[in-house]
Amino acid sequence: MPELPEVETVRRTLNALVKGKQIENVTVRLPRIIIRPDDTQAFAHMLAGHSIVNVERRGKFLRLVLDGLVLVSHLRMEGRYGLYQAGEPLDKHTHVIFHFTDGTELRYNDVRQFGTMHLFQPGEDLTLPPLVKLGQEPLEPSFTAGRFKEIVSGKSTKIKSLLLNQEYVVGIGNIYVDESLHRAGIHPELSAKALTGEQLDRLHHAIVATLTEAVDAGGSSIKSYVNGQGESGTYQQQLLIYGRKDQPCSVCGTIIEKSVVGGRGTHYCPSCQQPSAH
Ligand SMILES: [Zn+2]
Repeated sequence: MPELPEVETVRRTLNALVKGKQIENVTVRLPRIIIRPDDTQAFAHMLAGHSIVNVERRGKFLRLVLDGLVLVSHLRMEGRYGLYQAGEPLDKHTHVIFHFTDGTELRYNDVRQFGTMHLFQPGEDLTLPPLVKLGQEPLEPSFTAGRFKEIVSGKSTKIKSLLLNQEYVVGIGNIYVDESLHRAGIHPELSAKALTGEQLDRLHHAIVATLTEAVDAGGSSIKSYVNGQGESGTYQQQLLIYGRKDQPCSVCGTIIEKSVVGGRGTHYCPSCQQPSAH
């Protein structure tokens, strides 16, 4: 599933492709992608005539801000967008087509069909599901070490599970949580409330640095992720722990182990990431 760096990369590339374009009409070929409104004809009718003002992001969700509407799109496993000329052959996995007045089309493809779209009036989207319960954005200036300590404070959850919970900090999934915990030298199964102030400072720094570097690299292309222009990211080449089971740790040379934490495959270095808080 794309995490913050991948969704942010899609946001940037998509914005460059569709900002300012006016929707003439919309074709929905797979109704289950459209969650709100529950009538796909109403969805298409509402969007016709509106222009795309900006493409924004909230956590792992894209927000296509139009003049008078907001379209919230989640790519889930393998959703992707691409800009085409009208008349170019359709892929069998193209499920939603936004036809623009200039003869181009934004197509939403999704092999797994798990992606979702919700359409809202401006302002509504942040007060209703799926965005309403989302927590802190980690790449905004408001995500200080102090704010991170407030979020983590007193919680007995395992630190890995806490970081994956989008109600606390958004955008971090299985890849970047493993990378951040390794970078900070923290064992994924430690209880959040057992971590020292110094460990939380290190983890805060590791999260920001890891996500920033991954955004700069265009995200990680694991499985089929591509940006809005069909290009792959390169951060998978810089991953230090994720996917490196049985390889030596880049810091200390110890063989990297993989276990299951909170139901998720978890990579860690048994030497750098000791299972005690001190
Ligand atoms: Zn190590």
